[in-house]
Amino acid sequence: MAKKIAISVPKGGVGKTTTAVNLAAGFAVAEKKTLLIDFDPSGACALSLGFEEENMHGDIFQVFSFTKCIDTVVHKTDLPYLDFIPCKINTFDLEERINRLSRNIYLFSNVLDQQALTEYDFIIIDCPPYMKGLTTIALAAVDSVLIPIRAGQFSVAALKKMFNQIEWVKTNINSELKVEGILLNMYEPRTKAWDLTIKALSKNFREYLFDTVIPKSVSISEAEFYGKPSMLFDVKSKGSIAYLNLTEEILNRNAKPNIYRLGGSRFSNLKG
Ligand code: ATP
Ligand code: MG
Repeated sequence: MAKKIAISVPKGGVGKTTTAVNLAAGFAVAEKKTLLIDFDPSGACALSLGFEEENMHGDIFQVFSFTKCIDTVVHKTDLPYLDFIPCKINTFDLEERINRLSRNIYLFSNVLDQQALTEYDFIIIDCPPYMKGLTTIALAAVDSVLIPIRAGQFSVAALKKMFNQIEWVKTNINSELKVEGILLNMYEPRTKAWDLTIKALSKNFREYLFDTVIPKSVSISEAEFYGKPSMLFDVKSKGSIAYLNLTEEILNRNAKPNIYRLGGSRFSNLKG
């Protein structure tokens, strides 16, 4: 049975897609059979994995609207252990339809329960930067949520909103929903903005922080231009090593450690 993790926070540009793609790639490198599902109408995961319109044959929306079965919209990637389902909602009309469909709160949960997905160890879902509709049905369907944030007061505010939403989902739809962890992304040590952000997080959220932090790294954004996860672009870069460390941390937490420890910055040094 796959562990299902949603990557979500109601704030744009914090690294949800980057984390979804690179964590999914990390699991695949660790030989865990992984499925990445793009759940954001902007469709950014496809670009990050090098898919173009002409080499995509179906998407998650067609599964929701019962025009295709889930196994027919699964795409193979450059990594043998990583499969991908895109999201190609490129008109306002389609976005309206998907929002209407997502009023059925168990729509996605029923999709994920299908026999065709039992082969996976992990299913990663990249959510949009808002809570209503698609994010709610994703949270209804997953085991846990991983919350990436970057420095700033708005990120702290978004985190509070996220935890309120998680409580609501737990009370009303999915009592088993857990927080996988809060991930500090685009981390820059010894900067005022990060010092203040960590101080603001310490009071209520300290226990949820991953040991691993993802540094601000040029190679992470460069890799996107080449349609590759960071570790297939430059495996020795700080960003790739950090995402491999995050993979290892999550595997360890889920009691399935089987990849080698790589060097890199650890947030534990900072937590004191
Ligand atoms: P949206 O809410 O719009 O979907 P998002 O939360 O998914 O945004 P991303 O698209 O993953 O955010 O990242 C936003 C931008 O920040 C991208 O250009 C990405 O390359 C860059 N970025 C993300 N993480 C890092 C990092 N650790 N170092 C450098 N650049 C990064
Ligand atoms: Mg995104």
